[in-house]
Amino acid sequence: MQHGAHGGPRLLLRRLREVMAEPVSAQTRLDRIVVHIAANMVAEVCSVYVLRADTLLELYATEGLNREAVHLTTMRADEGLVGLIAQTAESLALADAQQHPSFSYRPETGEEIYSSFLGVPILRGGNTLGVLVVQNKARRLYNDEEVEVLQTTAMLLAEMIASGELQSLAASADDFATRRPLSLTGTPITDGIGLGHAVLHEPRIIIKQIVAEDTKLELERLEVAIHAMRASIDKLVDQGDTGHGETRDILETFRLIAHDQGWLRRLREAVNTGLTAEAAVERVQNDARAKMQRQTDPYLRERLHDLDDLANRLLHELVGQSFVGDHASLPDNAIIVARTMGPAALLDYDRSKLRGLVLEDGGALSHVAIVARSLGIPAVGNVGNIINLAEQGDSLIVDGSTGDVYVRPTPDVENSYAEKARLRARRQEQYRKLRDVPCRTRDGVMIDLHMNAGLVVDLQHMEETGAVSIGLFRTEIQFMVAHRFPRMREQEILYRSILEAVPNHPVTFRTLDIGSDKVLPYMDKVEEENPALGWRAIRIGLDRPALLRSQLRAMLRAGGGRELRIMFPMVSTIEEFTAAKAVVEQELAYLMRYGHALPADLKLGIMLEVPSLLWQLDEICAQVDFVSVGSNDLLQYLFAADRDNLRVASRFDTLSPPALRALKLIADKTKAANTPLTLCGEMGGKPLEAIVLIALGFRGLSMSPASIGPVKAAILATDLGEMERFVMDLVERIDGGHSLREPIRAFAEQQGIPLG
Ligand code: PEP
Ligand code: MG
Repeated sequence: MQHGAHGGPRLLLRRLREVMAEPVSAQTRLDRIVVHIAANMVAEVCSVYVLRADTLLELYATEGLNREAVHLTTMRADEGLVGLIAQTAESLALADAQQHPSFSYRPETGEEIYSSFLGVPILRGGNTLGVLVVQNKARRLYNDEEVEVLQTTAMLLAEMIASGELQSLAASADDFATRRPLSLTGTPITDGIGLGHAVLHEPRIIIKQIVAEDTKLELERLEVAIHAMRASIDKLVDQGDTGHGETRDILETFRLIAHDQGWLRRLREAVNTGLTAEAAVERVQNDARAKMQRQTDPYLRERLHDLDDLANRLLHELVGQSFVGDHASLPDNAIIVARTMGPAALLDYDRSKLRGLVLEDGGALSHVAIVARSLGIPAVGNVGNIINLAEQGDSLIVDGSTGDVYVRPTPDVENSYAEKARLRARRQEQYRKLRDVPCRTRDGVMIDLHMNAGLVVDLQHMEETGAVSIGLFRTEIQFMVAHRFPRMREQEILYRSILEAVPNHPVTFRTLDIGSDKVLPYMDKVEEENPALGWRAIRIGLDRPALLRSQLRAMLRAGGGRELRIMFPMVSTIEEFTAAKAVVEQELAYLMRYGHALPADLKLGIMLEVPSLLWQLDEICAQVDFVSVGSNDLLQYLFAADRDNLRVASRFDTLSPPALRALKLIADKTKAANTPLTLCGEMGGKPLEAIVLIALGFRGLSMSPASIGPVKAAILATDLGEMERFVMDLVERIDGGHSLREPIRAFAEQQGIPLG
């Protein structure tokens, strides 16, 4: 018998296209498809197995095996050759299948007489939906062309499965693996629970036509699209346009891959088998995605990601669909799903409809994460393969406190989360009721709760939370969401709108705190061994006086005639503060000369974030109008442990004698000098830490808006005198141990203090 594809792949695809167009039932269509494949490939058997939600592979159609077994035979995914293919998502060609260690015999199918076996995964978006198999009695090895043909026909089946056409054959619509509930885990970005429906930030292209009418024409379309894609990448590189946060390096790599001959050859070959240009891109992309899921080397994974991105660009060129989703048709409870996105892109969505954000790549430090936090949107990052696993409109749950993401959750999970969300909402309601209650401890000590902010959208929280002021306005966020340095006028407009939005409350602006993890995509990157200890914050400001000067000018102009507070980040010597103050004075003189209104009341302060200041507190207090402790940085430097490195973050506890003694020293010294003191790091936003801070002597804490309610509830229930005695006794003991958290927590609970 002569082997090899009979009539070639194009004839097969043409036949299959005819079958797809016939007005017949799904089962009949599937039955005809397997007949055509078997005939074309001169195989005695052709079978389709579909992966079900319960992870079993069910025989859906067969030519050659016992038809009675259809919809009755199932296999586990770890069983037999079919299971092996489903698990590995790789094709398998064997001349003597029965010798393979994974071979498993199913008597009901009558399979024992077939020696040769060729199976390919039915893939879509990197997910295995099923397995397509051909078998022959005679021993033979299938050649590469036959493997290709089978892979291409598997694409058609993938579309049939994904389109829902086969659902009528299943016991329930949820039977399909594509609809399977999934539970995934990433890294938490913003606390909170979001229930809603998936909105793909870059919607996946639905390919309507898989089989080509005219291959020559498709090759031409492919070339035109490749050309356009390359041109768009060249433009990005040339402009240094970093709209998607891509750095030049990444774009350069992109450009290299766009010219990769191997990739382009595979695309052309796929068109030559009879596919349309877009189906060819998807076909090659499927392989890359399947590889990506198995790839553990982070560098290679990254490259495969790039390839996937390029393939997406190419698809968009071919189909002429916009790269970014249609914001107008956003559902009321949207959960945005993106590989990664620029910070400004999130702001383009209607905030009132956003319930959550899931990122495949970005973590807690990405800029979009900062925006998500500002908006208070529950968000999780680093969720592997989410953009392929979630379909537009799928129901999704985001748990921003644990990093869990549920795709198409089961009713159980959904109910339990709906209950959790209700509980949270009830608690939020209780916090809202506290808004106008003065923040006073049980023994009558007033504590000021301020709010951290960085965007105009944050200001709405001022009213909701009853914060006494904006204790930290992170000006760098405007710079981070921009595509280039914001001009002085743009900065002034922002600062003025902030001041005007909260006319009765002071605002403390912090000058640009960039460097280290806060990079501006448009600013030349400085390679440093230790960026956290490097050129950042006020150090950049003093070395680039034009930058600092224009920012100060913008602040002083915006604050004309009002109270204005400015503080400098990462000050480590007194000279740095005096130098920065001198720039302020120069600017004041300049504004006066040109007749501008000056701030009615100007206060200049520092962020205390560098331990060297602990031993210059007397001198610093003599110079500044106020001190704000940046505990995030201060503690990372005190313990020499990167604040964002999970491996070292748990090695020390903020509630330990060295940290608390340092904070106590600050409280004592500033009090003695009569210098106003606040703390604006994350520590102040945690109820237990907050009551410890007030026990050490802090009377002002600035925190994210969501923390104000829980912290206030804790303070209202605290007897400060008793708490102070308990905490100070522990802090001063020389056998106090590494962490004082547990004894303090136990004491707080015993006192009936709610800890959030
Ligand atoms: C801090 O370091 O505690 C702080 C508030 O500043 P940032 O988190 O912006 O570095
Ligand atoms: Mg800091």
